[in-house]
Amino acid sequence: MHNETLRPESTPDELVNFRPLVPPVQRGLAKGTLVDKYGRRVTYVRLSITDRCDFRCTYCMAEEMTFLPRNAVMSLEECLRVARIFVGLGVNKLRITGGEPLVRKDALWLIERLGALPGLNNLVVTTNGSQLDRFARPLFAAGVKRINISLDTLRPERFRQITRIGDVHKVLNGIVAARAAGFRRTKLNVVMMRGTNDDEFIDLVQFALDNELDISFIEEMPLGDIHGRSQSYISADETRDRLAERFELLPSAEDSGGPARYWRIPGSATRVGFISPHSHNFCDNCNRVRITARGELYPCLGQNDAVSLMEVLRSGADDDALRQAIVGGMGIKPLGHDFTQQMEAPQVVRFMSMTGG
Ligand code: SAM
Ligand code: SF4
Repeated sequence: MHNETLRPESTPDELVNFRPLVPPVQRGLAKGTLVDKYGRRVTYVRLSITDRCDFRCTYCMAEEMTFLPRNAVMSLEECLRVARIFVGLGVNKLRITGGEPLVRKDALWLIERLGALPGLNNLVVTTNGSQLDRFARPLFAAGVKRINISLDTLRPERFRQITRIGDVHKVLNGIVAARAAGFRRTKLNVVMMRGTNDDEFIDLVQFALDNELDISFIEEMPLGDIHGRSQSYISADETRDRLAERFELLPSAEDSGGPARYWRIPGSATRVGFISPHSHNFCDNCNRVRITARGELYPCLGQNDAVSLMEVLRSGADDDALRQAIVGGMGIKPLGHDFTQQMEAPQVVRFMSMTGG
């Protein structure tokens, strides 16, 4: 005998034979797993906590941006609730991103609570570094394990051109502050742009070596209606060949379940990564989903399909309904993205700062 609801007066027999009224896909939920329809396990969430930023990087934002009104952005409590549910579903890695996450008022309030979530053993942050001199210590104390810092150039003038407003010295101070606070294996993210920063790749790797940092080179992605990118596109392979003329690069077996492949430089701890969504497609073992600041669950960075968690959150629904919406989102995770090397037209209409890089 099976029953599908329990009542206060349920008999012991009914309790023993209880089968919850849930669709088959959710039966695994109690075990804490999120699996998409291709059998890939999702264990990693990138959560954007704001679409705002104190920089306006040319590849990421338009010069004049209209940001979301405050009430269209998930509150920090809503972010925490969503994160808690994901962790309950087996997610063990969470990246806080944006926009610039550290410009969100009270971001630390959220990060401290996330750091204390049982089961979340890898809380990490991606930042432009501008606020790190103040935040590095409290982030470390909150349990953040690692920081990624975007740094496309070491040259002040060029930095200002790329970010339109930023001061590279603040970022460099932030890198020092991160180390002083206790962070190790901090990673630099470099977006590769021909004619803009490609003459600095060797200097940037040398900087990483000198400062015991990891470094990843990222192929620019066609996100947001900004500009044609085919002129500035550089493949990861081209950059790796150029770097190999100066540094010995040994392939590393490390796999983050993402579009990055890593190389080691012998005699150092530095790893050099190449994130190549265009030239190589590593979607087969993708383990991640993204949540935008307005509470949309994007199962793939390179596709436009999303599930609105915000609607569920603001409808007053309970945790089960939220869980159900998240599990439903796994059903629309595509096999892969459609980025191609034809970069003139944006294939994904939202900016990277919206989705969270
Ligand atoms: N503001 C933080 C930062 O800059 O690190 C976090 C958010 S930012 C959107 C995350 C990452 O996305 C950064 O490393 C940035 O360089 C990268 N990014 C932004 N737009 C991109 C694009 N069109 N193609 C490739 N990477 C991009
Ligand atoms: Fe801001 Fe990061 Fe986008 Fe640059 S890449 S504009 S720092 S969100």
